[in-house]
Amino acid sequence: LRGVVALDGPSGTGKSTVARRLATQLGARYLDTGAMYRAATVAVLRAGVDPTDADRVRDTVARADLRVTTDPQAQATTLDGEDVSAEIRGQEVTTAVSPVSAVKEVRAQLVAQQRSIIATALAEAGGIVVEGRDIGTTVAPDAGLKVYLTASAQARAERRTRQDTAAGRQATVDATLADVRRRDNYDSTRAVSPAMAAEDAVELDTTHLDLPGVLAELLAMVED
Ligand code: C5P
Repeated sequence: LRGVVALDGPSGTGKSTVARRLATQLGARYLDTGAMYRAATVAVLRAGVDPTDADRVRDTVARADLRVTTDPQAQATTLDGEDVSAEIRGQEVTTAVSPVSAVKEVRAQLVAQQRSIIATALAEAGGIVVEGRDIGTTVAPDAGLKVYLTASAQARAERRTRQDTAAGRQATVDATLADVRRRDNYDSTRAVSPAMAAEDAVELDTTHLDLPGVLAELLAMVED
């Protein structure tokens, strides 16, 4: 792969798994921007800061040293040198991440960092698959391919529940569906770069597709 593939869409569309597999198959790097917002949220929670207190969130995240690896087969996220890869997937972080990621200065900081990670990856590996909510619209508006993954809220809640259960976290479809709806609403109505499809993105509905099916569609788009 040469250049950037932007993969956006809400949670539960299979985005992360598919993005990692796609990057692996293409010999490209992979950037999970959601992991960065999650690590920023860990910093906020550890500092005892209220996630809805925008000024204190901004100051706390500005001081945090957030890092993510771009090897699709060796994903790790660190905060101030400590591996927080497991902690960022926990319920407490998932609940607090939307208000943290709605803070304008937090987004400016992370978008700048993401652009620099992308530039390094392009120089070193030639290609990168970047997943998030605002990649096609804001982080990499010049991406060669932009895909917006969707799926019904019910299908997304079922997938997330299976993932959580497999990872040993307690979850029910009803509770997860409520969380999925709450986060969708928060992410798509925030003032700064709300989650949405870029005008030139290809929409791919994964409700009735399994992982190999989604991967095949994406590989076809890359080759096109
Ligand atoms: O993709 P994931 O579910 O891990 O993202 C967690 C949260 O981070 C999202 O619900 C959203 O609030 C935020 N996010 C964002 N912009 C991105 C990626 C994630 O605002 N590019």
